[in-house]
Formats: sequence, structure tokens, C-alpha cells
Amino acid sequence: MYMDYDASTPRALATEAVHAGREDLAELGLHAPPIDLSTTYPSYDTRAEAARIDEFATTGARLDGPPVYARLDNPTTARFEAALARLEGADDAVAFASGMAALTAVLLVRASLGLRHVVAVRPLYGCSDHLLNAGLLGTEVTWTDPAGVADAIRPDTGLVMVESPANPTLAEVDIRALAHACGSVPLLVDNTFATPVLQRPVEEGARIVLHSATKYLGGHGDVMGGVVACDDEFARALRQVRFATGGVLHPLAGYLLLRGLSTLPVRVRAASATAAELVRRLATDPRIARVHYPRVGGAMVSFEVYGDPHDVIAGVRLITPAVSLGSVDTLIQHPASISHRIVAEGDRRSAGVSDRLLRMSVGLEDVEDLWRDLTQALSAPPAETVRAPRAADDSAAPSRPVGR
Ligand SMILES: *Cc1c(COP(=O)(O)O)cnc(C)c1O
Repeated sequence: MYMDYDASTPRALATEAVHAGREDLAELGLHAPPIDLSTTYPSYDTRAEAARIDEFATTGARLDGPPVYARLDNPTTARFEAALARLEGADDAVAFASGMAALTAVLLVRASLGLRHVVAVRPLYGCSDHLLNAGLLGTEVTWTDPAGVADAIRPDTGLVMVESPANPTLAEVDIRALAHACGSVPLLVDNTFATPVLQRPVEEGARIVLHSATKYLGGHGDVMGGVVACDDEFARALRQVRFATGGVLHPLAGYLLLRGLSTLPVRVRAASATAAELVRRLATDPRIARVHYPRVGGAMVSFEVYGDPHDVIAGVRLITPAVSLGSVDTLIQHPASISHRIVAEGDRRSAGVSDRLLRMSVGLEDVEDLWRDLTQALSAPPAETVRAPRAADDSAAPSRPVGR
């Protein structure tokens, strides 16, 4: 029957984005995916349930039929997982309540095997850096650059972790070369910034691909989630850890993330084109000291200003001054104050996160409107004079609103 999905027929990413995880809908007589909010699933056959629970406990494999209890699995979230795995070119994917819950589960899978040492390349997202550096999960980290990874690996190394492009400097690593340097140690690539639209790390040798689904996958700033795309064996271990530790994604979030995937290629390509144009203009702007933009492209732009970065944040009117990224609207934030505040100042600076660096997530607005807002914010008078008008001449105080 032509409706049956044949995995051997290659389909373009844009096609997969709207069809993966939904192949059975027409046969079910549905168009939109159903949302299953059940926390428990009835069964009159306790012997069969016991056998299924044993099966999950020993293999971690997804159960055929109802999930017994919502901490094991959820049919709506499973659709999102299947779709994301397809987009990343991975066997499977396992979703979590947030990106940080996803990273936690990966670390616990490795630590449970006694492999508590992690080799990581800075910069990473501030909270990922913090989780590793503080050893909150009983892991130990060695920070190095990509060229130092092979030498940093020890017998108890369970994971090599990188972001490419990295948050917030957009620094990139050669994933293929790094995967080679890792040998048998799994390489985790946080692909939150590039998304599978621009880069598929599994094809370059990464064993584990992590997303903060809160960002581009959801795409509208209204859903928090995390997901790991990986091989079957690692996915089974992740499902067991997720069951035992409980960092599950809510099914409504699973629904929204699946819906987000359907427009992911269109959103990423449109926002990337706008970002590239803004980069072109920023690069020749005398107020800008340096622009960071990765070779892989994308909708994230970082730049260092000669002036006070806090004044730029205080000066935007159309662009939203907020942490996070990957939404339909443009966001700007100051990493040294917000996203990377939890990283010690010295570590931040040595990772290239300058105090003058601003990180902008370009959305779907018109490029001219964004440029107009950015350029007026870059010319904003120093915030001090706004907040403290001179007593002798109050009329000198600008009339624009402050404190936004
Ligand atoms: C936001 C982010 C995370 C953390 O994800 P949450 O969904 O906020 O828990 C991890 N990695 C990167 C690159 C991020 O930007």
C-alpha cells in the first residue's frame, strides 16, 4: 500500500519534517496527531504486565502496546522522538523535560557504568558548563581544546562533549576529526544551534546528539524540552534512566515539539537568511568591534560592541531583550550577565566570552525593521544619563521609556 512508510526511500528533510512520526495518521482517520494525557493504562492481565515490565527493566526497549505508566513512555511524545530521530539520521531519540534533563540522563548512563570522567570543550551553554564543572552528578571534567581531546581521554572517560556552533561565541569544531580522536569514547554534540537543518552530527561520527528542544525545535518560545538522538543501544539505556529518574517530557510539550518540527526547515532557512544579511551590515558598522558567525550558517549572531553592551540591551524596542533563542521573534541577551553568568569570570573569558559580547537569536521579522531597531539601540545614549537626568537641565533627559 502506498501509504506504508518505506524507510529505504530517501526523502528530503523538508518532507520528513511534516511527515515523520505521522505515518499512521491517515489510517487512523486522523489528520492532527492525537494527544494522550494518560498517566496510567488499564490492564486486566497482570501476568502479561509483569512480563512487559521485566522486559523494559532488562532491555530498556520501548514496549509494544500501552506504556503501563506514563514515566515509561507516551504515544504522543513517541511521535516527536521518531520524527527527530529521522531528521537527525539517528536510530532513535529519547525526549526529556528540558535540555538539562537530557544532559543529566546522558551523564548518568555513563556514570552508572563507572565512567565518570568527561572531556569537554569550552564554551558550552552556561548551565552545561556548570553541571560539569561543579560535578553535581559525581562526574569529573577535563576542559581542553579540540586538539587536546585525544590526550585528555582516560580509561574512565565516559563522554566527550562539545557544542558546535557553541553557545555563545558560535565557535565550531570539526566534528568528523573530533569523532575520530574520540576512538571508542562516545562523542556528544549539542546541536541546538545548528539544528538538523544545517548539520547532522551522526553522519559525521557523533554517537550522541543533544538538543535543547526549548529552542529551535519548539520554535515559538512556549515549550520546554530536551531530546537526545542516538543509536538503539544508547536510547535503551536513556529510557531506563528516564524511567528511574523521572525527567519526562509532558505529552502536550511532545505535541508542540512535533508541530514545531514541521516548520523547522522553513523557519531556520528564513531566519538564517536574515541573520546573514545582519552579519553583513554589522561587519562594516564602526560601532561593532567583532562579529561572530559560523561557517555552517544559522540564525544566531554574536557581536562585540565598542560601547557599553548594557546600553544596547536597554535600547532595543522591537527586538526582545531576553535569554533563550530559536523563537519566531528576535531575542538579544548579554551572555556575561545572563546565559553564562554561572560560569566563573576567568573561565568565561578564557573561553572567548568577552564582557562586550552580545548574542542575538534572529527571528522571522523583516530584516529592515530589525536593522532599524538594532542600529538605534547601538546608538542609544548611555543608560546612566537616562536614569539620572541632570538636575540643572531636565529637558536633556530623553523621553523614551526606560527600564524595559
Ligand atoms: C538552552 C540550552 C541548553 C539547555 O536547555 P534547556 O532546555 O534550557 O534545559 C543546552 N544547550 C544549549 C546549547 C542551549 O542553548
